[in-house]
This record gives sequence, C-alpha cells and structure tokens, in this order.
Amino acid sequence: MRALRRFTVRAQLPEPLAPLQTLATNLRWSWHPATRELFAALDPAAWERSGEDPVRLLGEIPSSTLRELAEDAELVAQVRDRAADLERYLTEDRWYQVQQDLPAAIAYFSMEFGVSEVLPNYSGGLGVLAGDHLKAASDLGVPLVAVGLLYQSGYFRQSLSLDGWQLEHYPVLDPQGLPLQLLTDGAGAPVLVEVAMPEGRTLAARVWQAGVGRVPLLLLDTDIEDNDADLRAVTDRLYGGDQDHRIKQEILIGVGGVRAVRAYCRATGHPVPEVFHTNEGHAGFLGLERIRELQSEDLDFDQALAAVRAGTVFTTHTPVPAGIDRFPLDLVRRYLTDALLPGVPTDRLLAMGAEDDPSMFNMAHMGLRLAQRANGVSKLHGEVSRGMFGGLWAGFDADEVPIGSVTNGVHGHTWENPDVASLVGEPGRPVTAGDAELWGLRNALRARLVDEVRRRVRAAWLERGASTPELSWTDHVFDPDVLTVGFARRVPTYKRLTLMLRDPDRLRDLLLDPHRPVQLIVAGKSHPADDGGKALIQQIVRFADDPAVRHRIVFLPDYDMSMARYLYWGCDVWLNNPLRPLEACGTSGMKSALNGGLNLSIRDGWWDELYDGANGWAIPTADGIDDPHKRDDLEANALYELLATRVAPAFYERDEGVPAKWTGLVRHTLETLRPEVQATRMVREYVEGWYAPAARAARVVTESAFAGARAVAAYRARLNAAWTKVQVAGVDASGLPDTPVVGAPMTVRAVVDLNGLTPEDVTVEAIVGRVDDSDELKDTVRVPMKHLGDERFEAVVPLPHAGLAGYTVRVLPTHPLLASQAELGKVVLA
Ligand SMILES: *Cc1c(COP(=O)(O)O)cnc(C)c1O
Repeated sequence: MRALRRFTVRAQLPEPLAPLQTLATNLRWSWHPATRELFAALDPAAWERSGEDPVRLLGEIPSSTLRELAEDAELVAQVRDRAADLERYLTEDRWYQVQQDLPAAIAYFSMEFGVSEVLPNYSGGLGVLAGDHLKAASDLGVPLVAVGLLYQSGYFRQSLSLDGWQLEHYPVLDPQGLPLQLLTDGAGAPVLVEVAMPEGRTLAARVWQAGVGRVPLLLLDTDIEDNDADLRAVTDRLYGGDQDHRIKQEILIGVGGVRAVRAYCRATGHPVPEVFHTNEGHAGFLGLERIRELQSEDLDFDQALAAVRAGTVFTTHTPVPAGIDRFPLDLVRRYLTDALLPGVPTDRLLAMGAEDDPSMFNMAHMGLRLAQRANGVSKLHGEVSRGMFGGLWAGFDADEVPIGSVTNGVHGHTWENPDVASLVGEPGRPVTAGDAELWGLRNALRARLVDEVRRRVRAAWLERGASTPELSWTDHVFDPDVLTVGFARRVPTYKRLTLMLRDPDRLRDLLLDPHRPVQLIVAGKSHPADDGGKALIQQIVRFADDPAVRHRIVFLPDYDMSMARYLYWGCDVWLNNPLRPLEACGTSGMKSALNGGLNLSIRDGWWDELYDGANGWAIPTADGIDDPHKRDDLEANALYELLATRVAPAFYERDEGVPAKWTGLVRHTLETLRPEVQATRMVREYVEGWYAPAARAARVVTESAFAGARAVAAYRARLNAAWTKVQVAGVDASGLPDTPVVGAPMTVRAVVDLNGLTPEDVTVEAIVGRVDDSDELKDTVRVPMKHLGDERFEAVVPLPHAGLAGYTVRVLPTHPLLASQAELGKVVLA
C-alpha cells in the first residue's frame, strides 16, 4: 500500500534529554563539531541513516533506546553541557555588541538560503553565500533577521540516465520534519501574511522560523488550505515555473517578506530593522512595500522613497546580462495593483524598473533605484558592475558610478575540516606545522575523499541501472596517492564545464601519465530548462564512462552541500575556468583554500584580487579575443600546459616522501588566504561600510517626523524642475600659467546659469587630467570651484601631470543627505 500523504511526528524526549530538541532545531549544530559528535554518539548507525540530520535522528531512535540513554549519567551531563554552550553562544556579547552606533537590527532578504543540507533551500552559490552570511553574522552577534521562501521541494535532486542525461527529481519536504518552528502570535495562532493578487484574490503564507545560531530565518510558505489550489503552489519549487509563477514568488518574498518581519518583531519583541539588505534583485519589491508603509504615515511617494533609499542596501551578483531578473512590463502592471500596495501611484512603481527596453521591468535597476548604497561581490565585479549599470548614471565616468564592492567570503567552521584548525590553529596566525605534518593532513583529507568518491560512483551506477556484480571496478576508482583536481559548480555556459575536454587526447594523457597522473572529479547541476547545459554534462559523463579512463575521472551526480564538503576538504587543486569577467566572485575556490587546496583558476572574481603568485596558479586568460572558439583553444591549452609542467611536477617531486614545494604552497595558502576568505571578514565589511552608514542615513531622514526625507524630496523636485536648463555658459582658462610645469597653479573660471537653483544646491567642479587623441580626460583631479557672486565660479588647480593635458567644468547636485555626488545621476558638463 502506498501512503496518501507523508507527515512527520516529532519524538517525545525523556526529560533528561529534553535539551536535545533545542540542540537539534537550532542549526548551529551544523557548524559545531562537538554538538554533531554528541548526536552521532546517541546512535551512530541511525545518525548515518538519517543523513546526519538531528531532527530525523531523534525520530529514528526508538523510545526504548531514548529511555535507556536518559539513564546514562555521562551522556545526560554532555547534553546539558552542550545546551549550556549553545545558550551562551546565543546570548553572550560578541563583536557587534562592543561596537558603537550600529543599527538595532538589519533585515536580509534572499531568494535562497543554503544553511545546511537538511534544509535544502538553495540551488548554488548565491544561496550558500546567503547561508554563510547568516552564520558569520551569528558568530559576530550581528542582529540580522533573514527572510526567504520555504520551497516544498527545494531545488531538484540530480541523477543520470544510462546515457548520461541529467534527470531531475523533486522530493517533497515536510516542514514538520525540518528544523523549523511556526511563527505564532501572542495568542498562539499561526501568523499569516497576506498579499493581494489580481482579480481580487489573496495569497496567504504561514511563516516558518529556522534558528541559524543567533539569527532567525523567516521562510514564507503558501502551502496552506486558505489558498486556492494554484496559489498553494507559489512556493512549490526554487527557480521552477514561468515568469508568472516567478513574479508571484518575488511579490511574496518582497512585499510579504516585509510584512513577515513586522509580524515577527511584534510577536517576539525583536528590535525593528533599520536597514534592509536585498541580496540580489529578486526581493526588490520589499522597497515598494516600505514606501507603502510610509505613505500611510502621511508622506508622499517621493518623501517615502527618500526615507526608504536611505536605509536600503542592494547587492548585485551577476555580470551576465542574461542573468539579470526582468519581467514584461505588462505582467508587472497586472500584479502591482492598488490592492497590493494601496495608495502608491502605479506609474511611479513601474518607473522604478525602467530600462532601455520600454516593454521590460528590470529588477536590478529597481534594486539600484531603491537603495542608496549598492555593491558587487568582488573588486573586479564592482568595476564590471559600474560599467554595466553606468547607463543609470549617464554623464559620469565609470569609476564614479556609486556601486562599490564587498568581496564574498565563506563560513570557516562550515567548510573547513576540523583537522585543519587542530593542526594549524586559528586563521591569521603563522603556520608552524612542518612539511611532513601538512602533507600528512592533505593525504588524510584526500584519502577520505577517495572513499567518498568510490561510494558515490557505485551508488550512481546502481541508479543508472547497473547491477552489483558489474560494479566491482568501482572499488578501485581513484587512488589516494594521485594528484586530485576538483571542478564542481552549476553549469551555466560561462563556467565552461567542458573546457577540459577541448582536446580529449591531451586530457587523457594527463590522466594516464605513468609517472605523474592526475585524477579529476567533476560535479554540477544544470538548470532543468537548460538542455545546452545537460548536453555538456553528458559530454563529460560519456568521456568518464570510457573504461580506459574511468578510474581517473568521475562525474558525481547531485552536487550539494553534503558532497561539496568532501571535495573542498580533499581536492589538492581546485579548478575554475570561467569566461572572464563573468564570474562575479566564485566561492568554491575559497572553501578549498581553507583546507589547503591550491587554486588553479582564471583570474576572475575573487582570484583576480587574491592570487599572489605563490598561493596557486593563474590560467592566462585571452580577454579581448572575440572568437570564442579561439579563446577556448588558447585557454584550454594554457590549462593543460600548467597542469603538465607546473602543477603535477610540484606535487610529485618528493624529498623523503614529502613534496616540499607543494607543502610550501599549502602553507602559504593557509597563512594568506584563510583569513581573507572568511565570511566574518565579509560581514564586518558590510556592517562597517554599509549597514552602519545606511542606519545613520535612515535615522537622519526619519527624525523629526521625517524632516530629512521631506527635505530630500523637496530638493529633488526643485532639481528636476530646473535641471534641464542649468548650463555652463562659459569657461575661461586665461589663468593657464605662462610656463605650465607640473604643480604650477592654473586658474579656471566659469560662468554657470543655475536656472533658479542656488549655489548651495550644486557643486561646480573644475576637472584637470590627461587627454588622449579622443580628448577623453583620464587620471583627473577634481576641484570644487568657489562661488564669486552672480554666476561666476573659480578654482585654482595645480597641474597634476606632465604631458598632454585638458580640463573641463561640470555642475553636480549637492545635498548633505546624498551619499555621493553621482547618486541622482545628474550632471551638466561644459
Ligand atoms: C560554494 C558552493 C557553490 C558556489 O561555488 P562557485 O565557486 O561560486 O561556483 C555552489 N554549490 C555549493 C553546494 C557550494 O557549496
């Protein structure tokens, strides 16, 4: 008989073991080895069967066993000890608590969260990054409230057909079997969040809370009886469905998410967030809901916009134009109704997402318009984003576009094997372990990976339809002493999964080299709708199926956090070969570096800024070669060369069994990269450089009944009315020195028609710099000009460079409540 529906009944624990419930439901166990060990010790076999999932584990252990365990005084003491440790972790003062003048709370919105494999609510890097952000925030004591959706079947699980084609499965998750708690109001009733849908319908969601250490993660779930059948399915899958499905999800997380935060703060007394951080554009509608809230407090749209912008941070994650989230404008108009956001003028809402194509609504553009502060996720990505979104700040040079960068980081305690810290101590200290010890650690981690590879290869073949007697060869795939290279990631085109197959014979030679062989692990999921990506996977699988090489190359299906951990621990080399500069940051290589893995990567994303010549290898990139085939040829060739002539020799050259050159690279990687790639470094940067300034700005615009917001809105209105006729009527450089040498003062005078604006409303700037043949100014010095009266302005600028120079004058808006002079995208050039 098949069951009609599955559900989970939670275990009733004997009183002495009751704290296990708390330990199981707060996800801190996932990065706290001592707590994991405690769960494993309860029943090692059940721990394994449960997939190392404490909630499932407690359900699997028979009540009789639990009663016996409750009699074990030593165990009970351990349980109490771990519970006390968790309680301390949740309440003691941490880094944030000893800083000054920081926001009372920050709301962090993301479409996906990869906290642990027991809560599979992520598809890849973006989600895992969000999970690491929460964990690092928790470790630092940052009062974050996170908001996302709870998907009934998360992202898909991947398996392979016999001929190597990706198959997708969507196991349904039961929230009762997950480490979640329903958010209830004071009277104990479940909190329901509602958002209006077209045609007078309502979409309701309940709110589940996960505890990520100190950080509450609120997940909205529409699978409830109050909803029409089609609306119950709004949170069915992550990144499934069409545009209509997707906009419903995004309205739910944005608008519904703010309502969930409000309900959470009311129900628990949690401080109200002063800053809202939008992790990628998907949740951008949150800004519109906050505008609605403020409009109901007697502000008009522009005043509300000024207040919302001050307290909003937007992080963009993709330099791939096709990766930007966009909707047909008509679809957006259908959903952004007065019922959804009462009192907010529709034309103003729609204008927030305007882009070049007038029929489209662009979520990234909305993100940038609704946030006073924005950033990319590595230095290079910041630069690329300033170019990519520069159109919103027309007239400004790319380096003035107000998009900064915070380089991503990864959560050390999640991704680092505990043996690494035991051997080399905390990040940031010199590594005193000797070559032999480092080598011993690497060997142990590699051996563990090889076991895991064999287990998974065998399971994958059974799933593809092979029978046990055919599979004895899987006991011998991989060799614990062979140089092991990992390549695992999602499979969008730019990541070039199959670059290594560019010349299959050369790859085969590397794998089968009699003296210096390489073994290669490949893994990754293709988006279910992307047949091109699935064809790439099939190409790899077919290559790896060849009996001549299958002991040296494997494709492991179902890449997720539980597999990833073994790869990051055990791979000697982490390979990454994206098309530069399309990898915004990349974080898998950071996780490898935490464990002493060496990166072999195109200088893209984080590797562009942290590669130092002695912590791995940079694959030369053929940027600027337009023919993609030629570019692939060049870069693949460079990759083979590096592997054969640099990487493998360093690994195999031994002195008394130890490759001193290799362990030197490992030591340097652990010393220099391990502290840099930490998510705590990233979160600290967000707190100091983004959240704190945003909270200060938000306070200033909110104080005294929103006097600041009203002032900004009035200023912008005045500016808009006057701006088109502001002009630099004349520039006079009669003040050029007789002999223009470097440093000689040059006087620039200008006559500016401000068209009714006051000199205090603007900055008039003299700009001097180098010029090239096209008269473009470069390496400029910008000096504000003094107002001399009437329409006359003047500045004295020391000549900055020798050689061909040029100058100009421009007018910019200035207001004390703007974060940058480029913020409003307005500039008048002479
Ligand atoms: C870290 C991680 C990623 C992201 O890797 P990239 O280098 O950004 O491609 C994807 N999936 C999992 C499971 C991860 O742990």
